Amino acid sequence: MASRKMLIDGEDNQTTVNIDTHFDFDLFVIGAGSGGVRAARFSANFGAKVGICELPFHPISSEVIGGVGGTCVIRGCVPKKILVYGATFGGELEDAKNYGWELNEKIDFNWKKLLQKKTDEILRLNNIYKRLLSNSGVKLYEGEGKVVGPNEVQVTQIDGTKLSYTAKHILIATGSRAERPNIPGQELAITSDEALSLEELPKRVVILGGGYIAVEFASIWRGMGANVDLFFRKELPLRGFDDEMRAVVARNLEGRGIHVHPRATLTELVKTDGGIKVVTDHGEEIETDVVLFATGRTPNTKRLNLEAVGVELDSLRAVKVDEYSRTSVPTIWAIGDVTNRMNLTPVALMEGTCFAKSVFGGQDCKPDYNHIPCAVFSIPPLSVVGLSEEQAIEQANGDILVFTSSFNPMKNTISQRQEKTIMKLVVDAETDKVLGASMCGPDAPEIMQGIAIALKCGATKAQFDSTVGIHPSAAEEFVTMREATRRVPGARKPKTNL
Ligand code: NDP
Repeated sequence: MASRKMLIDGEDNQTTVNIDTHFDFDLFVIGAGSGGVRAARFSANFGAKVGICELPFHPISSEVIGGVGGTCVIRGCVPKKILVYGATFGGELEDAKNYGWELNEKIDFNWKKLLQKKTDEILRLNNIYKRLLSNSGVKLYEGEGKVVGPNEVQVTQIDGTKLSYTAKHILIATGSRAERPNIPGQELAITSDEALSLEELPKRVVILGGGYIAVEFASIWRGMGANVDLFFRKELPLRGFDDEMRAVVARNLEGRGIHVHPRATLTELVKTDGGIKVVTDHGEEIETDVVLFATGRTPNTKRLNLEAVGVELDSLRAVKVDEYSRTSVPTIWAIGDVTNRMNLTPVALMEGTCFAKSVFGGQDCKPDYNHIPCAVFSIPPLSVVGLSEEQAIEQANGDILVFTSSFNPMKNTISQRQEKTIMKLVVDAETDKVLGASMCGPDAPEIMQGIAIALKCGATKAQFDSTVGIHPSAAEEFVTMREATRRVPGARKPKTNL
């Protein structure tokens, strides 16, 4: 055993810890996405010797795609949000007319210009992530990682060279990849990976799926002027969200000119002279330029050799972990989408932080999955925290009070946009605790982050009511919903999460 100095992240105090030097590394991380980079940096700051591997930016096979920064930075949250910003200007320009802006000349949208700006930004962030690693003393290997033993990782470089490293701990942080439904002609469709880098802006788009990605891309392409047909299997999009808010999102999508096809799916895709013909299970045929499959993602466990070394996977091939992110092999850990717990970037960051604190920081840190806010960046966006009305009823022992507010945002009174903002609070009638909050309207994610802190602190409805509003704002509605819209009896189950 040897000892090294440990620098606690962001703090000056240094502590000496015992770290085993029989291995090349104390920690080797496979996958340099949000979770992997966080875990590597924080572990290194605690004094650990850390290696990390990630594929270079370009694909090396149809199965694997990489880039330091991972899905969020390279082909997920960041480029998507840039496109959402770009698409939002379409509606803003329309709204501007009633505010006195004379937009007489023909207005053009230059897709290629936005694409180039987006690529430049991703490259900038990719370099920042690499710098964050090197500044923390983490050694980056560009190649595909694979586990070959409980303490051994093999990295295959682009030129085929295989390098082996031993590590006291191995962390799997390989994320997930888009899943394609098995529909005849499926090879004609794209996933969100390609959608973020299309050479031309499509004029006609068909989207299959009713989740985050489907709804967000429907808004992006419609905002940029495309004709969009959105197909999903359920009555409403966004299964798992509050039903009332799902209906609001569906109404807004239609209001913005998206053709919404509930209870429908695609049965065949056929190449035509003019594009792609899609056939629906209702016998409908639509010709389009692009078909996007947004039908979920699957954990990236395929090429990691995990089962051979004893790491257990679940039925969806996600890595099974305990509450500290430890797998069935004690020296191997896993965080982020590859574990299919709650597939959001900030959750992977939390899991990476807890891993580093628990394994190298001498602290007992378990990720806390309560009150995690999230947002769907449709136009306008939906954002929620805590329980939906349905979940509250299901889990409640007593009655639930539901407060709702539906109003015309002040901006729309002048622009004449016919789109209401909706807010909702779900409250435990007995304890007065606010169990859940939702909002669909401009700036919802920016507002919900603060509401999430209140819920995490256990705020009551009375405390919301005693908070002074910011006037004039939409956000002040959250502290002025005086009368309950309805009182609903709970399922009278023993209390769990209230
Ligand atoms: P989701 O799991 O959110 O939604 C998948 C959708 O595809 C559902 O509507 C599902 O329908 C439908 N579907 C699944 N299989 C089929 C099929 N064979 N035929 C037709 N429809 C099908 O997946 P996404 O791909 O939208 O997103 C993946 C993950 O990425 C999400 O879990 C989310 O965590 C994350 N993400 C987060 C974002 C954010 O935070 N803003 C943005 C984008 C992604 P049904 O409901 O009927 O099962």
